[in-house]
Amino acid sequence: MNLKHLSDQQIHAIDQAHVWHPYSSLSQPLPTYHVSAASGVRLQLGDGRELIDGMSSWWCAIHGYNHPHLNEAVTAQLGKMSHVMFGGIIHEPAAQLAQRLVDITPEPLNKVFFSDSGSVSVEIAIKMALQFWQAKGRAEKSRLLTLRKGYHGDTFAAMSVCDPETGMHHLFNEVLQQQVFSESPRCRFGEDWLQDYLADFERQLTTHKDQLAAVILEPIVQGAGGMCFYSPEYLKGVRALCDEHDVLLIADEIATGFGRTGKLFACEWAGISPDIMCVGKALTGGYMSLAATLCNDKVAAGIGESEAGVFMHGPTFMANPLACAVANASIELLLESDWQGNIARIEAQLEKQLAPCKAYNTVADVRVLGAIGVVEMKDFVDVAALQKRFVEAGVWIRPFAKLVYVMPAFNIEAADLSSLTAAIVDVLKPD
Ligand SMILES: *Cc1c(COP(=O)(O)O)cnc(C)c1O
Repeated sequence: MNLKHLSDQQIHAIDQAHVWHPYSSLSQPLPTYHVSAASGVRLQLGDGRELIDGMSSWWCAIHGYNHPHLNEAVTAQLGKMSHVMFGGIIHEPAAQLAQRLVDITPEPLNKVFFSDSGSVSVEIAIKMALQFWQAKGRAEKSRLLTLRKGYHGDTFAAMSVCDPETGMHHLFNEVLQQQVFSESPRCRFGEDWLQDYLADFERQLTTHKDQLAAVILEPIVQGAGGMCFYSPEYLKGVRALCDEHDVLLIADEIATGFGRTGKLFACEWAGISPDIMCVGKALTGGYMSLAATLCNDKVAAGIGESEAGVFMHGPTFMANPLACAVANASIELLLESDWQGNIARIEAQLEKQLAPCKAYNTVADVRVLGAIGVVEMKDFVDVAALQKRFVEAGVWIRPFAKLVYVMPAFNIEAADLSSLTAAIVDVLKPD
């Protein structure tokens, strides 16, 4: 086989024989779609068809694909240096990005650790919390308190704080650290708040506080664990309880960061700042894998006083210059755009156009926050069958579990967004 030019069929044959996809089986592979190019909100399939993208490649491509400004940033950096080790070296793209992140994230987060992916940034956040307490002579504070229905990534420490059921903890019970779980927030975003909604969280926190290094949660939006939106009052309450009981707070903004919920960071809904914060996904506008873990002076100073004296982490591709350059360009583009106006427009359109699904007897709930639209079904969906129908309707929407959802690029045009919602309303219509 001439590997230089593969036909659509050859690509599929190699894929089926050799390639893993997320959460897939090579014994019973599900169909995949060959994408040959992408531009704006359109994915070009190998067979020539074009799909309107509703997923932003899982929260990432907030400006759409193949954006001239982002392409230019990568190309310019490529001509200077695509990578250099970060041990003992600093470069302009990393300095710019660190300053930008410090400027736009909630005060007083002001120290930045770069890494390659969201899961790794979560590992780093957890390690920061553990080293902090070691330095205080309280190494027994090494467990984490988190919320059910959470998702924080697929590496082992990250997995230990994912929802125990959907994260399938029983598969890895022998090696997963046993963390403390509170019920998932009951008060939905926009609903009236009752102090009782924090009762279970408070009980877990006060019971286990002497063992707890940190609370880790996704602020406002629980993403891959269920696409639920909860009240900012809950987050405010969590921050206050963490302060009261001397437990650090880690906010995982990997999905919510960079405007998706209508605030630049979801913590802003509650007006709080975590001690440690993870960002990833949309950080580079979906161009490259890059993540960062930020912390405040208190945490950084603590780590400096720890037995190691240094923070014990250092990825090979830390602060990759190409990734930093495109992240700088993406943040610039975002802040120069009317992103709040765009998100508000998308939110209003999603609310209006997904509403017909509420009448379907197969639908449990329809909810929208910012540029996230979710239709929750009563039963698990047949992902492959549904995906096929969406592709036939000319859209790229990938459901999981009971959820059919969209999170389009912020610059999607109203007509394209209408195509996405019309496909959902049509494909989900009960027979
Ligand atoms: C996607 C995600 C992660 C994991 O990021 P990866 O880049 O896939 O490792 C962690 N936390 C949240 C909230 C996420 O949405």
